[in-house]
Amino acid sequence: MKHHAYISETSTGPPDVVGMTQSELEGFFADLGKEGYRAAQVMKWVHQGLTDTFDGMTNLSKTLRSDLSQRARILRPRVVRDVRSDDGTRKFLMKLEDGLDVETVLIPGDDHDTLCVSTQIGCAMGCRICRTARMGPVRDLTSGEIVSQLLEVRRQVPESRITNVVFMGMGEPLANFDRTVKAVAIMTHPNGPQISWRRLTVSTAGLVPRIPDLGRTVRAKLAVSLNAATDEQRSAIMPINRKYPIASLIRALTNYPLPRRDRITIEYVIIDGFNDSDSDARELVRVLNPIRAKVNLIPLNDGIANDLRKPRPERVLRFQEILMSKSLMAIVRRSRGADIMAACGQLAAKTGESE
Ligand code: SAH
Repeated sequence: MKHHAYISETSTGPPDVVGMTQSELEGFFADLGKEGYRAAQVMKWVHQGLTDTFDGMTNLSKTLRSDLSQRARILRPRVVRDVRSDDGTRKFLMKLEDGLDVETVLIPGDDHDTLCVSTQIGCAMGCRICRTARMGPVRDLTSGEIVSQLLEVRRQVPESRITNVVFMGMGEPLANFDRTVKAVAIMTHPNGPQISWRRLTVSTAGLVPRIPDLGRTVRAKLAVSLNAATDEQRSAIMPINRKYPIASLIRALTNYPLPRRDRITIEYVIIDGFNDSDSDARELVRVLNPIRAKVNLIPLNDGIANDLRKPRPERVLRFQEILMSKSLMAIVRRSRGADIMAACGQLAAKTGESE
């Protein structure tokens, strides 16, 4: 058995096929002395048929099916809470195999839905604006646990039309690099859940050395949580900036392999009296000058650090106006799901707690 580097990242049981790429599955079948095309069949059952038993895979022989049930698993989180926001946003609290909880948010749109998935439980980045940071780092999710958030919400909400996936839930995707990359590869695979890579966005707080690695390894859109235009401001709310200051971040973004006409999304959380002045906006334009960017302005969801408050609406509009007047594309992201603590920066599952 030589292919099994992926086996059970958090438990001692047989490997979880939800988190295996097609080539890993091919290796798995080769080890069993089986044909490689079985990999594609199993992937389709799991990711497209949403099957959770090998027994249901009717185009496999009975013997192969029972063989598989001995040697592999299809892990499924248990949804323990499903909260609905007044605006239609739904937050799912899912219990994993080891009893820890993860949060996933379904954001309905007019003709399609977006799913916001988590990549870690807790987070080590320590951003002062974000509730997940308060948890500290708990553990990385496995690739299966990242992908299964998508599969499980599709099971729970059969009428959902999830075409877009954003890696903007709990955790820092690039701090859980290998598993994130694997989850992206699976989600965008033709035999997988079939999310187009153009509709899959990985968001980072700015783990600079990992940005070129990401561009080299998978195709996905990139978003960066900048949140301030000077090092002094950024370091005050995002400790990662002390290690990787803005100039190093922008340099990494300049070299990111962008497809034609594509842009990097820059997230900028607007905080009252902190980073919302006209000169902050002009400084942002200047900082972003070297890259093809579009800016998502996110009014702070407050209540996390008590000295940081949500901006006045007129400041947000003025800020957007300044960016646009300098030909920098900028949209204000409507905050969704704030009433159920499902909005940006509000995810923080209680861990290890029973229902
Ligand atoms: N760690 C990754 C993925 C999480 S994305 C990253 O930082 O990009 C979460 C987004 O929510 C980030 O863009 C962050 O800047 C934003 N955010 C965090 N706290 C927030 C808050 N209190 N109000 C609004 N947005 C917030």
